[in-house]
Parts: sequence; structure tokens; C-alpha cells
Amino acid sequence: MNVLTNKTNTYDAIVIGSGISGGWAAKELTEKGLQTLVLEAGELIVPERDYVEHVPTWDVKFRGMRDRQYMKVHQPMQQHIADEWNSKFFVDDLENPYTTPPDQPYLFLRGRHLGGRSVMWGRQSYRWSDLDFEANIKDGHGVDWPIRYKDIEPWYDYVEDFIGVSGQAEGLPQLPDGKFLPPMEMNCAEIAMRDVVAQKFPDRRLTIGRTAILTVPHRGRAACHYCGPCARGCITRSYFSSIHSTLPAAEATGKMTLRPYSVVQSLAFDRKTRRITGVRVIDAKTKETLEFHSKVVFLCASTLESARILMNSATPEFSTGLANSSGQLGRNLMDHIFHSGASGLMLGHEDRQQIGNRPNGIYMPRFRNVKDKHPDFVRGYGFQGGGGREDWGRGSEMSGFGVDFKHKLREPGPWRFSFGGFGECLPHPDNRMELNKDKLDAWGIPTLRISHKWRENELAIFKDATATAAEMLEAAGAKDITLSTTPSQPGESIHEMGSARMGRDPKTSVLNSWNQAHDIKNLFITDGSFMVSSACQNPSLTYMAMTARASDYAVRQLKQGDL
Ligand SMILES: Cc1cc2nc3c(=O)[nH]c(=O)nc-3n(C[C@H](O)[C@H](O)[C@H](O)COP(=O)(O)OP(=O)(O)OC[C@H]3O[C@@H](n4cnc5c(N)ncnc54)[C@H](O)[C@@H]3O)c2cc1C
Ligand code: SF4
Repeated sequence: MNVLTNKTNTYDAIVIGSGISGGWAAKELTEKGLQTLVLEAGELIVPERDYVEHVPTWDVKFRGMRDRQYMKVHQPMQQHIADEWNSKFFVDDLENPYTTPPDQPYLFLRGRHLGGRSVMWGRQSYRWSDLDFEANIKDGHGVDWPIRYKDIEPWYDYVEDFIGVSGQAEGLPQLPDGKFLPPMEMNCAEIAMRDVVAQKFPDRRLTIGRTAILTVPHRGRAACHYCGPCARGCITRSYFSSIHSTLPAAEATGKMTLRPYSVVQSLAFDRKTRRITGVRVIDAKTKETLEFHSKVVFLCASTLESARILMNSATPEFSTGLANSSGQLGRNLMDHIFHSGASGLMLGHEDRQQIGNRPNGIYMPRFRNVKDKHPDFVRGYGFQGGGGREDWGRGSEMSGFGVDFKHKLREPGPWRFSFGGFGECLPHPDNRMELNKDKLDAWGIPTLRISHKWRENELAIFKDATATAAEMLEAAGAKDITLSTTPSQPGESIHEMGSARMGRDPKTSVLNSWNQAHDIKNLFITDGSFMVSSACQNPSLTYMAMTARASDYAVRQLKQGDL
């Protein structure tokens, strides 16, 4: 890739961040003819050197148990999700600290490298519907979305066609079908559960997960071979990541310059022209300060980091953060509440075995508050999960010893089925982040103080999801049903969003319907910051579609001389 910057440090466009949204901005802007600089805070990732999905347990130093001493010091937060193979894809918490009020723990889980979290993400990809886009206006939480499904539908088509999403069309209004590659197959426990649900719960539908993984070769990438540990990389490029798809497309135009180790510290704003005139960068290796210039800036550093950059760019006019005349920057932070649900043993099917390591589960779209009105909460939740045979690991919960015990554990165990709920989080102004000038990161930049707690509606959703999961398992005759009773910490579902919401009114929102700052015409923010509500579906497909849409708009505006 072209990693040399030009002499004047001046481009048509600058994209900050190379993750899921930054990769899309880079592709779209370069393909539409813009000389584009991509500033990435972290290092380059080279699949042939860095991916480890095929490294067996016996070839890693701690045999999969992780370097617990290192993680205790350097990754006390990231260890919630990082394993021994992929801990290198997660940040060092010492270099990248943040704080929270003592009674509001928050998990800020992320990577700092080329591709961002598109390297480790779970790839579940669902469209939103007007049930989601109209939710705020109908029940009065937050502000109204300035767009509806018809505005984003062609961009969902466009993105899915490029990235490849496998899934099953179901014809449900609350979960619009996409342009799917062939679906992955359900196993026998899942088929049994699907049939019970269809028979006994007519308002619910169990389908195979919709995932950005190729089930057939697609656009030069190979179909998945079901090896399983995708969060460690994928040498066959079978799942979507910026590294596999959008950045190579941008590179192919010859118009992208990629600068790794470029920590964006702040944006320079000119009061007279009311434009962003520069992007200030600290070189992560040399600590040198540089400034880059462009006609348009796409801020795609992720929900929390983008708001942090804007807060750190405060001016006398925008004293609480650039583009923050509404006072909404950093507020309305959302994440999905999860860890609800239940699991149980599905007896029978002992003559059936799983083949391969399918990197996908089942999905049950939202069924609460779709037609009826639930007495305890607004909005709803979807279930992810699936069926599988227990393996030798079940031995840790069993009594026994000796040869017979070992032989027994070599045989596959019973089938188990699990439902895990992802519940919607309402926008609340006090779920927010602020700049903490007393605590700096490794590059001397003020860090974040994050305050986020679950409120009554999220907790009621959590409770109902556990109850309905148990009810479906019981209906399917499952045994030894275990209920999930402790909610996730905010941040833990890694779907943080909402810190610079869009809206119709500049007095109550940061961005307009094109992801463009109300206050500053040449600034676009297309990571999860723009989200106005959280729905309950995994959000990244929506970030991608909105990024492609915003890029198209920005280039049209530029060409018309309106930017
Ligand atoms: C384990 C895991 C599972 C997930 N599963 C799913 C899923 O199944 N479905 C789904 O929809 N979502 C999932 N997500 C969430 C998904 O990864 C994020 O929603 C998505 O990556 C957000 O895209 P982004 O572009 O905003 O941020 P990121 O992909 O995080 O990219 C941000 C980029 O900006 C860079 N950056 C940050 N600060 C700066 C700075 N100051 N200067 C320059 N660059 C900077 C970072 O280094 C990074 O490369 C998952 C995430 C994880 C970690
Ligand atoms: S399971 Fe499929 S998508 Fe995941 S790493 Fe293996 S080949 Fe890639």
C-alpha cells in the first residue's frame, strides 16, 4: 500500500480510522476520484504475518491459558474478550486508559491497528427496519431519526453486494431481508428448536444467523472452510474486514495514501470560513506533531474516539467540543444489554454429529412490541445462540477419574441449546462521556471519563429475555435449564453508539441526515457516533451503509462546489 504522504500534506479528503466505517469511506471516496489520506493510529496488519486462526493450542506459549501476568497489567479490560492468540489485536490499557465513576463500570473494548475491530468482529449483519427508525418519534425517547428505511435500503443492497452476507430470507417486516449469499445450514438441535418455535410461538421466528462470511466464492475471496476461530484472522479472506475488502478496493484506485502510526489528536477549525482546515497528528513512533489538510474530513475513529477527538478540538466558540453547538456531543451513549437468556440439554439426536466448526449461530428477530404492546417495557430484543454437542470440556463439571473417565470424555456429549438476548438500550443524555484532562494517554492526549448505566427499561428487557428463552427451551423438552441472571456491563456487547447523534434540528443534534456536522459543512462522522437509537440488531452493517451514503453525498456536494 502507498504509505508515503505527499510534500504539501494536502489531499481532497482525509479519513480518520481504518476500521469498518473508515474502510468504507476510503473505498467510496477514492473510487469517486478523491485523493484520500487514511490516518490510522495503529500499526499495519499483514495477514500472512499476523493472522493466527490456524495455530493450534499446543503451539502457543501458554497453551491457550493466556499470559495472565501480562494481561493483568496491560489488558485488565481487554482480557474480557481477548484470548492468547488475538490479544495482540486489542489495545494496551496502560497506553490507552479511560476512567468511569466507581459505581458505573464500563468495558471499552477495541483495537488500534489497520482494520480496527473489523479484524475481530463477530460478523453478524442485520438490517434495521422502520420499526427501528420510527421508534423514537413513536414512544418519545431521544429525537426522531432524520431518515427512514427507504433512504438506506439501496445502500444496504450496495454494501451487502460488496461484502457478501450469507443468510435466509424470511419476509419479516421487522428484519428486512438482504441480498443474501446461500445460508449456512442449521444442525439437528437447531432444526428441532426452529420447528417447536414455529408450532408453539407463532409470533417468533428462528432463522440461521446473517453473517458477513462467504458461503460461496465472492469478488475474488474464497468461501469459508469452517475452521472456526475467526477473531484471530482469516487467511482466506472469507469474512468481511477492511483489510480483506474495502482497503484493497481503495488501494486499487491508486488514489489512497495510508499512514499508519498516525494518532489524530485534534482538528483545526477556521472561524471565518467555518471549515475544518487541518488534522493534527502525533506520530505514534516518533511523537512528532504533523498537520494534514483536505477539502473534506471523514471522522471514523469509532464512537467514543471520534467524540474524544472533537472534544479535544474545542475552540473559544465551541468550548465543549467542535461541532457541539447543540451540547449533545458525547451524550446519549448506547450499547446493547446482553447476557440474558438460558440454555438447556436437548436430549436425543445422539447418532448425529456436527461437521466442521461453523462460524455462525441462529438468530431470532425481535418479537416484543412488534404488534402487541408489552406492559413492562418499550422496544425489544433479539436472540443469538444455537445448538451444539458438548465436548470434553464438560469433564470439568463432572466427577470421575482414570481411563474409563477419559474414554467417556472422548465421546461427544449431549446436545445443548442456548439463547442469548441482545436488548435495545434507550438514548439517555446522562449516559455520556467527557474529556478527562487529568489523565493522559501514552501520547499526552486527554482521555475519556465514561458514565453509562442500565436503566429501568433495559433491565425489564433483560428479565423478559431470560424468561422467554426458558419458556422456549421448556416447550422443546430441554432438561437442566440454566438461566442467565446477571446483565452485561455497559460496553460489553461492543456495540457502543450515539455520541454525536443525527437529527433534523441543529439545536438537539450534532449531524444532519447525511452524517454531516450541522455546524461544520466539511466534517462528516460515519462511525457509530451518528446513531439516534440502538435497535437490538448488531449495528455495523448500518454504519457501512450510512458511510457509503454519506460519501456519495459528500462527493456530489464537492463536485457542485457546495463544500
Ligand atoms: C469481538 C467483537 C465482536 C463483534 N461482533 C460484532 C457483530 O457480530 N456484528 C456487528 O455489527 N458488530 C460487531 N462488533 C462491533 C464492531 O466491530 C464495531 O461496531 C465496528 O468495528 C465499529 O466500526 P468503526 O469503524 O466505528 O470502529 P473500528 O472498527 O473500531 O475502527 C476504528 C479505527 O479508528 C482508529 N482510531 C481510533 N482512534 C484514532 C485516532 N485518534 N487517530 C487515528 N485513528 C484512530 C482505530 O485504530 C481503528 O482502526 C464486534 C466487535 C468485537 C470487538
Ligand atoms: S471459519 Fe471461515 S471465516 Fe472464520 S477464519 Fe475460518 S475460514 Fe475464515
